[in-house]
Amino acid sequence: MKRRSMLAYAGLAPFASDLMASAARGATNKASGLPRFTRVRPSEPSWPDAAKWEELNHQIGGRLIKVKPLLADCTTASSAECKAELEAVKNPYYVGDQPAGTQTVGWVDGWMTVPSAYAVAATTTADVVAGVNFARVNKLRLVVKGGGHSYQGTSDSADSLLVWTRAMNDIVVHETFVAQGCEGKQQPSPAVTVGAGCVWMHVYDAVTTKGGRYVQGGGCATVGVAGLIQSGGFGSFSKSFGTAAGALLEAEVVTADGQALVVNRCTNADLFWGLKGGGGSSLGVVTSLTLRLRELPAVFGGVNAAIQAKSDAAFRRLIRRFVAFYSDNLVNPHWGEVVTFGADNTFVLSMVFQGMDDEQVAKVWQPFFDWIDASSQDFIVTSPFAINSGPGREWWNGEFIKKNRPGRAISDERPGAPEQNIWFAEQNTELGAFFHGFQSIWLPAFLLQEDHQSRFANALFAATRHWAVALHSNKGLAGTNAADVTAAKDTAMNPAVLSAFALAIIAGGVPGAYTALAGQPLDLAVAHKNAATISLSGDALRKVVPNAGSYVSESNFFDKNWQHSFWGQNYPRLVAVKKKYDPEGLFFVHHGVGSEEWSADGFTRLAAD
Ligand SMILES: Cc1cc2nc3c(=O)[nH]c(=O)nc-3n(C[C@H](O)[C@H](O)[C@H](O)COP(=O)(O)OP(=O)(O)OC[C@H]3O[C@@H](n4cnc5c(N)ncnc54)[C@H](O)[C@@H]3O)c2cc1C
Repeated sequence: MKRRSMLAYAGLAPFASDLMASAARGATNKASGLPRFTRVRPSEPSWPDAAKWEELNHQIGGRLIKVKPLLADCTTASSAECKAELEAVKNPYYVGDQPAGTQTVGWVDGWMTVPSAYAVAATTTADVVAGVNFARVNKLRLVVKGGGHSYQGTSDSADSLLVWTRAMNDIVVHETFVAQGCEGKQQPSPAVTVGAGCVWMHVYDAVTTKGGRYVQGGGCATVGVAGLIQSGGFGSFSKSFGTAAGALLEAEVVTADGQALVVNRCTNADLFWGLKGGGGSSLGVVTSLTLRLRELPAVFGGVNAAIQAKSDAAFRRLIRRFVAFYSDNLVNPHWGEVVTFGADNTFVLSMVFQGMDDEQVAKVWQPFFDWIDASSQDFIVTSPFAINSGPGREWWNGEFIKKNRPGRAISDERPGAPEQNIWFAEQNTELGAFFHGFQSIWLPAFLLQEDHQSRFANALFAATRHWAVALHSNKGLAGTNAADVTAAKDTAMNPAVLSAFALAIIAGGVPGAYTALAGQPLDLAVAHKNAATISLSGDALRKVVPNAGSYVSESNFFDKNWQHSFWGQNYPRLVAVKKKYDPEGLFFVHHGVGSEEWSADGFTRLAAD
């Protein structure tokens, strides 16, 4: 099947955007009767002509790319070229190096990966300025991409001009840093300045493996720095160090008028605040970020186990027991990452720790596993409790991991690929994923109080009757030290994050769906069925958290209440920042700040013009 017919079959972009465009083209402003402001598509006469594109290309030193779709050579799925491309997209670094690359493929009824018309492969701030100005002057749909990890496809749009920051990847470590204009108002601290195109693995390599310090970044190390920080950003050890946005000291950002601004606590403080968790590319294009560095813990470790309950009743008891155990032992800076309660009555433990030795860790978990062992009529331990720890400095060191934990890290084997290009086996479950549904819910710490535990455990059990529920303990700040909670408070994120003990994630889809781009149809009937089931699971859990907050970058594409879910009471302040720095709405993303004023594809302004 050819690409175009596959997308039509899937019922997704670009046909969806074509339809929206033609509907919007006829639209007029009710008050004035004049046509509404509409961005230009390649099929229209006002699309820039070849000379204008050439002028832009010249301005940016020849780095304008006419973007080919991913798997462009897959005309027939069985061809050698196609097989090679399908093999190549199993490497997240390769995908990140493609102008059309997105780390996930799409979302049923939401979006499907599609190339921009052109990309500015920026290497300097001046390139970004040129791209922003060109898009504004020529009324183009502008998208920005760094690491390409948006679940919601917000770095992807048909008929757009892409500002692609991948090549802006300088990393400079400072022994002492004070933000511009903050002299005398801010304590000097060690810091790192990273280009907006960096992915966390490269930052960890420079800061931790080579530099022996800690920087708060993402858990998934192929995520881009700018996208993560504009989400708020959690890493495995966020319970110890807070959010990535909380560690931001300064950024450089190109605003809609083409100015490059330095933003920090003392200069353009409103924009600085908005960038910290206000969502990707709603306020400008970030070109660099400076983050505070911390002392590296001596030891990082992980604990793993898996348990199968033999009956629903036993599983309900396990959940209840775990909730009490969690409340007593795990809501503190030592712990992070995930426990998953499966719809098949399984319990999977996959957590990390710092600041404790193996003996202390074993002691913490002993009562829980003693209880399991004492109920062998109810439970089977399918994977025994295991602790794996090592020097903090080697946590992201590919060579060390490959030697000491074979099978855990995968290397980028492309000729000339940087040595530190490794990724972890579990990441392959999301690479190329086509999502069916996704819910995230911040779980307030009061649910762990003794008089709420049973109600919460029952809701958790009810949710698992539909779909697996994962509790990401590192994505809620209850139990984190006060200074890092205060830093997170001074970001645009929904304040629900501050008092949440975890983020519940209920999600599903199919991995490796790049094959869909080579003509292998997606099973939409299954996708719709799963989407409905995932929603039911979310509803069951929300019974104990009505009006819950949700993590902007890991959330439901179709959340109707997104302004509240992502930003809560911070939304009006964020809108004011948007109006000040981007009054014409050059920057648009699905469910981004101010996106209510635009058609779903970001091409037509809906508000009075
Ligand atoms: C496999 C996977 C694992 C993840 N793991 C984590 C995790 O451990 N912790 C966590 O908190 N989140 C995680 N996320 C969510 C992730 O942090 C967000 O999706 C983040 O926005 C991705 O940033 P990116 O640069 O990689 O993606 P992109 O798709 O390139 O960008 C995401 C958004 O940010 C915008 N953006 C990118 N660069 C810039 C820039 N320079 N200036 C302005 N806007 C920009 C884009 O336009 C887009 O709207 C994960 C996502 C995936 C797919």
